[in-house]
Formats: sequence, C-alpha cells, structure tokens
Amino acid sequence: MKHVTLIPGDGIGPEITEAVKAVFEAAQVPVVWDVHNAGLASLEAGNELIPASLIDSLNKNRVALKAPITTPVGKGFKSINVQLRQKFDLYQNIRPAKSTEGIKTRYGNVDLVLFRENTEGLYSGLEMYDERLGISDSVARITHVGCQKICDAAFEYAHKHNRKKVTIIHKANILKTAGKILLDAAAKSAARFPHIKLEDKIIDNMCMQLVDRPEQFDVLVTTNLFGDILSDLCSGLVGGLGVVAGANIGRDMAIFEAVHGSAPDIAGKGIANPTAILRSALMLLHHIDEHGQAFRIEAALEKTLLNKEQCTGDLGGKASTMEFAQHVIDNLAAYAPGGIAVEA
Ligand code: NAD
Repeated sequence: MKHVTLIPGDGIGPEITEAVKAVFEAAQVPVVWDVHNAGLASLEAGNELIPASLIDSLNKNRVALKAPITTPVGKGFKSINVQLRQKFDLYQNIRPAKSTEGIKTRYGNVDLVLFRENTEGLYSGLEMYDERLGISDSVARITHVGCQKICDAAFEYAHKHNRKKVTIIHKANILKTAGKILLDAAAKSAARFPHIKLEDKIIDNMCMQLVDRPEQFDVLVTTNLFGDILSDLCSGLVGGLGVVAGANIGRDMAIFEAVHGSAPDIAGKGIANPTAILRSALMLLHHIDEHGQAFRIEAALEKTLLNKEQCTGDLGGKASTMEFAQHVIDNLAAYAPGGIAVEA
C-alpha cells in the first residue's frame, strides 16, 4: 500500500475529495490516505495555516492530492498553494487540457499540455507597498535557473510523450530581459531535442490564437502568472474548470490538484464536478506507477462523461457530486486494469 497525503481543502474541496476516495475504494486502489488540512480549514480547527503534521506527512510520503484552498483577496495570509509550491520547490505546474468525447464544446480536437513555471515571476512574494505615496511595486523575479528547469522539463516531457512542438509564451517585446532569459533557456533545451519544433508567441497574441485555433498547439511553456491565466483559458476550451487536472512537480515531491479553486459560489451544495480532481488523482496514480488502475478508472470516467444525464450541472447534467462518482463506480465493472473493456 502506498501512503499518500490528502489535503481536503476549502469550499467544494471536501465534497470532491470524498468522491475520489469513494472511487479509489471501489476500484481497490492500493493507496492509504494520510489526511491533513491546511489554510482556513486548519485555522478553524485551532491549528496553524500549514500545520507541522502536514509538512511531516509530505516529507514522509513525497506525494499528495490537494483540493483547492481559499486565499483571502487583497488582505490576509499568503496563499497556502504558493507557499507549498515554493517550500518544496515544485517548479513544474503541468496542466493537460484535452477534448473529451462526451464533453461537447465548440472545439473538437484540443490536446494541449501547459507547463507553467510555478515558483517565480509575480508569485515571488516581492511586493513593496508605500501607503503614504499610494504606490505598490510587485517584482516579477525571473531567474536563469528557474527558466532552464521549466524549459528542460517541458522538452523532456515532449520527447517522452512523442509530442511534436513546444511553444514558449512571453512578453519579451516589453519585458525584454525577463523574456530573453526565458527564450535563451528554451533555445538551450530545444538544442537537445532537434526533432521537436520550438516556436514562441507573445502572450496577447497567444490568447487570441488559442481561442481561434487551439488545435495548432501542443506543449506550452510560460511564466507563473501567464500560466495561471492561460490554464483557465485552456480549461474553457475543453469543458470548463470542472474537468481540468494539474500536477505540481519538484525533484522529489509531487502534489496533484485540479486547476480550479474552492468555488465558494457552489460550496456545500453537493453539485461540484469531481472530474478535475479525479483526473488529478489519476495523474498521481501514473506518478506512483499504478498505471493499470489509472487507465481502468479513466475508462470508467470517460464512459460516465458520455452520458450527459449522469454528469453534474456544469456539463449540462443533473447528477450530484456523489451521484456522478457512483456512476463512475458502476462503470468500473466494464473495465479490467489497464482500461481494457470486459466482455459482458
Ligand atoms: P474557482 O475556480 O473557485 O471558481 C470559478 C468558477 O468555476 C465558479 O463559478 C465555480 O463555481 C466554477 N467551478 C470551479 N470548480 C468547479 C467544479 N469542480 N465544478 C463545477 N464548477 C466549478 O475560482 P475563484 O472563484 O476565482 O476562486 C475561489 C477561491 O479559490 C479563491 O480563494 C482562490 O484564491 C482559490 N483558488 C485556489 C486554487 C488552489 O487551491 N489551487 C486555485 C484557484 C483559486
């Protein structure tokens, strides 16, 4: 059995993680959850924002599934998500966005993997505020080392997964030195993989191109804030925030989480779509080499998504979070490990 740290999070977090736990239990996935809270949920229970027990669990297990955590806007504590990514140097944020047969959108053939640099840029925490003068300086620190690491990771991924093209997204026409560091790093990574095409796009043009013809792109690499915004945009191309997974990867630690946040507008109603966190959990299973189980649950999930009635409201269905999870569980019977269909 593999011990995995589970952070149930805030808002819809506890509801969608219950769905993942139910599916894993039904599939008899050899995972033991080591549950620890963080952020508001932890504070309300009288503990630290990031309790020492959570850090111990992460250090011990080296792999976690994390539900979204609420961050106060314009005041309050520093994002727990950003703190965890920086503390464990989870420098790669990988967010695949792929069209799904059962989810109808105006695009039919999207298959993107976004690599977002996860620890630098405008998330460096270098903000200086002079209340008297009414000035705030936010420093977007970019380093050679950070850019090289994310570009290398994206090219290595592209090579391993037989991807054809890597697009670097920047604003080097205005942010000239930061842009140059990123583009130089990309050229250095690309030189190791001459069979993979390298191109670059300015962020504003990239947004238009993605909305217009997303099928022309393959692997994307960008800095932290652009990556945050682009990943929500990419979610919109393939069915919305309820379906897109993500992974925060470092040298020897990985925390898997959906792209979406804690969705306070629907929290507590039992209607959130658990697909995004379930897909994140499937990325986790691949990470711990449980490929057979990952493909089996994925097949059951895809079958469920084909039936709109069985889906949650964001996908046009009427199912609750746990009803959706139950449909996935029911569909497990149709597949053997590896996702191979079992004859009826
Ligand atoms: P959000 O992603 O929580 O919600 C945006 C919209 O998408 C809402 O209408 C919501 O109902 C919908 N949505 C999101 N997930 C859904 C799901 N699984 N099923 C159905 N609908 C879903 O973005 P927000 O409202 O801007 O942020 C809310 C809070 O989440 C903020 O405190 C923010 O800081 C935090 N946040 C956390 C993370 C994280 O923990 N990694 C990521 C993003 C935002």
